[in-house]
Amino acid sequence: MSKKRIAILGSTGSIGTQTLEVIEEHSDKFEVEVLTAHSNADLLIQQAIQFKPNAVVIVDETHYKKVSEALWQYDIKTYAGLEALAQVVEMETIDIVLTALVGYVGLLPTINAIKAKKTIALANKETLVVAGELITKLARENQVAILPVDSEHSAIFQCLVGEFQNKIEKIYLTASGGPFRGKTRNELGNITKEQALKHPNWDMGAKITIDSATLMNKGLEVIEAKWLFNLQPNQIDVIVHPQSIVHSLVQFEDGSMKAQLGLPDMKHPIQYALSFPQRIFSKSARFNFMDYPQLTFEQPDTDTFLNLKLAYQALEKGGNLACILNAANEIAVDAFLKDKITFLQIATINQECMEKVAFIQHPTYEDYIKTNELAREEALSLI
Ligand code: NDP
Ligand code: MG
Repeated sequence: MSKKRIAILGSTGSIGTQTLEVIEEHSDKFEVEVLTAHSNADLLIQQAIQFKPNAVVIVDETHYKKVSEALWQYDIKTYAGLEALAQVVEMETIDIVLTALVGYVGLLPTINAIKAKKTIALANKETLVVAGELITKLARENQVAILPVDSEHSAIFQCLVGEFQNKIEKIYLTASGGPFRGKTRNELGNITKEQALKHPNWDMGAKITIDSATLMNKGLEVIEAKWLFNLQPNQIDVIVHPQSIVHSLVQFEDGSMKAQLGLPDMKHPIQYALSFPQRIFSKSARFNFMDYPQLTFEQPDTDTFLNLKLAYQALEKGGNLACILNAANEIAVDAFLKDKITFLQIATINQECMEKVAFIQHPTYEDYIKTNELAREEALSLI
């Protein structure tokens, strides 16, 4: 069987580097075709020299000279800028595009990759949050598979293999609860970014780590699940599971439930998305029951962690509301990381933007672009 040729968008990030580890472990099955970074030129160069892709993209053009000079002798094409990022996915030699960009910027490259009929391995959940209806419609029209990399969605997907004809009654997305589980609003008043950046179970990029602390991440995942599995809001439940061993569950109409379990390790869902429909060997650590004699579950506190409630509102109302929420949240998280707002203000800014930015029930692609801009402006004005 020929090797699957992979484009990794965001290869220098948490998911990107772990994807390269999976590919390195299975160099007989996968090879790297494209790597992209925003501004981490040194790591991009190092990765390119090791994995010998056909092309790389450095989005921040000020690093172009450095990257191209370092790579010309290896016969690796170097491109720069956002346009190159959006176009590189169309290369004929790519089989799978793994999107591990963070935020709204993932949308256009994913649209182009679907139009070019590439299989999508999706880590960049914001793409489905912003424009889930448009993306899933495009994927159906182009008969392109969107394989989830997010661990909860990979879990649901794995539970559904062999069940695609059977009706889902509901799904449960598990949430670790983040570093502030059990805290009251009062106690969250003066949380620092250093405290918020310490996730109990997962080592991830800064944006998703803050999203996990505010439960926005679970909110985004609820919306992501709607589009991936074609569910109604009342079919998607969230249950807090601090040990992060049960990665999510499906309940079928006969009342039976299936769960997918394992140690928290993103290389599992990454590898499954790349090897699907096959499972292939992994040397990663195995789960030991005696290390986890108790697996516990509790209700999420959506009064303290308002973002999860906001996500359900966006899901119920549809249209461009999730796009507004996502844009506001990207600005608010960035402001929190720059010490410009408090932890609790992230959710209040999100809420205000959802109330203020014009609602559109049936947005076009252009409407999403406009909504994203307006919501960012609105959020900035609130900071
Ligand atoms: P990171 O911040 O670690 O990495 C982001 C990557 O995207 C980097 O390669 C970065 O380049 C690049 N990038 C950032 N901004 C831009 C931009 N404006 N234009 C082009 N490229 C950009 O994020 P993660 O790997 O943690 O997360 C990636 C996605 O996967 C997110 O959507 C997240 O929600 C999702 N996800 C992550 C999980 C995890 O465990 N990390 C788990 C489940 C989902 P540079 O390094 O040069 O800045
Ligand atoms: Mg997740």
